[in-house]
Amino acid sequence: MTRYLFTPGPVPLDGRVSSVMAEPVAGHRSREFAVLLLRVQNRLRDLLRSAEPVPLIPGSGTGAMEALAVNFTGPGSKVISVSCGVFGERFREIARRCGAEVAPFDIEPGRPCLPEDVLEACRIHPDADVLLLTHNETSTGVCNPLEEICRALPKERPLILVDAVSSLGVVPLYPEKWGVDALASCSQKGLMAPPGLGICWLSPRAREVLSKGREAPTVFFDLKAFLSGLEREEPSVPYTPPVTVIRALDAALDGILQEGSRKRFTARRRFARSLAAGMESMGLKLFVEQKEHRSPGVTAVEIPENRAEDVRKALSDIGLETAGGQGKLKGRIFRVGHFTREDWPEICLILGSLWAACREAGISLREPDLKNIREVYEREDVPCGKSL
Ligand code: PMP
Repeated sequence: MTRYLFTPGPVPLDGRVSSVMAEPVAGHRSREFAVLLLRVQNRLRDLLRSAEPVPLIPGSGTGAMEALAVNFTGPGSKVISVSCGVFGERFREIARRCGAEVAPFDIEPGRPCLPEDVLEACRIHPDADVLLLTHNETSTGVCNPLEEICRALPKERPLILVDAVSSLGVVPLYPEKWGVDALASCSQKGLMAPPGLGICWLSPRAREVLSKGREAPTVFFDLKAFLSGLEREEPSVPYTPPVTVIRALDAALDGILQEGSRKRFTARRRFARSLAAGMESMGLKLFVEQKEHRSPGVTAVEIPENRAEDVRKALSDIGLETAGGQGKLKGRIFRVGHFTREDWPEICLILGSLWAACREAGISLREPDLKNIREVYEREDVPCGKSL
């Protein structure tokens, strides 16, 4: 039976991305690999609109977050950790285990982190040297207004480290222009490549902090080692990388840039808004109330009577894989990932299946109002992002 992967990563791959993985493995000290690495660097820089280096760390998004935390925090550093969900808490936990003094600032799950929240956190902890933020909180389906947050902060501010694991490639993300200092992301979500790579980006300020700082208490995650490899005329990596995944990432980035990132961001937002309108027309409640802060890549919906797991199982029986609520949200919500090229047919597929799955679970819903959803879909075809 065909199965549809609507989980918030990993994601289904384009045929071209899968096929390049069948090519012979290149040695990572070969010229061929250096050319590939340079091309991937340049494509990521294009997407981020920045000429700064983008270290590729073997591993996953958590690995990239750990690379930032272990290089920029530690004993003696004070870290403000603003969290609105499970992944904000993970970043906090990583910093804590690195030995930093962590000052938590919690936002109720489902609500976005707003500039005033971050300003307040910085006001309470003026002595902090690092600020941890999450761009897109995948556990609740909220996309935080990172650009506005950064703009609101004063010039004298902590180093801003951002978890962009589920935002890169899905929403506009211009760290240099916005004043972010470092990003952690991954290959297997918005970039539509297979799992296997953590991706970092570092501002000149972050690199200066690194160069003046202590020796990192890590060999594998030592960002200085990754940076010095990237500075060479023939760029290199310090340790054996997942060459095949890097090749796939190259093909995936080529696809994104050929399509045009602006077009892609618009399509993701349009999909999310149409899907949300459809769910609401059935009488369901979206977990994130404020429309403008809903994620273009993942939608979290509440299911009456905490029956989300029953509905998810019924959806899986139909052939649609989705993700459950995490932590305290288990049973209350489930999540649909739409990081790739989902479009109108998938909206109909998800809504029709959801209606049937709820009926199977004994929850009766109104039928989705397709005419109204189609109107939303047509209306949302407007370029997205102030910074574009
Ligand atoms: N942060 C966010 C926002 C995420 O969505 C995820 C993965 N769902 C992670 C961190 C962890 O990424 P990984 O599973 O690739 O380690």
